[in-house]
Amino acid sequence: MPLYWFHCRACGGFDVAFAMADVPAAAPCPECASSSKRQFGVAALIRPGSAATRLIDATKRTASEPAVVTAPPPRRSLPVTRNPLHRKLPRP
Ligand SMILES: [Zn+2]
Repeated sequence: MPLYWFHCRACGGFDVAFAMADVPAAAPCPECASSSKRQFGVAALIRPGSAATRLIDATKRTASEPAVVTAPPPRRSLPVTRNPLHRKLPRP
């Protein structure tokens, strides 16, 4: 069910889920129970729990909760060659 945004003059905005066929023009505020008009805004096209939503949440989370490491990443060993001609090559 999509979320619809309503605005209470005293308390501010709140979201309520309604079936698309049953969405009213006004809904009671969850805090003061006054009638609040429906507001129109950008549609929430991303489904909660989807792979896209998890990726967006993880990306946002790295801004405030970066992954903590306890050690540097392991060093990769250089490939070893057994060709004797490679010994003649200049070394860095
Ligand atoms: Zn209210």
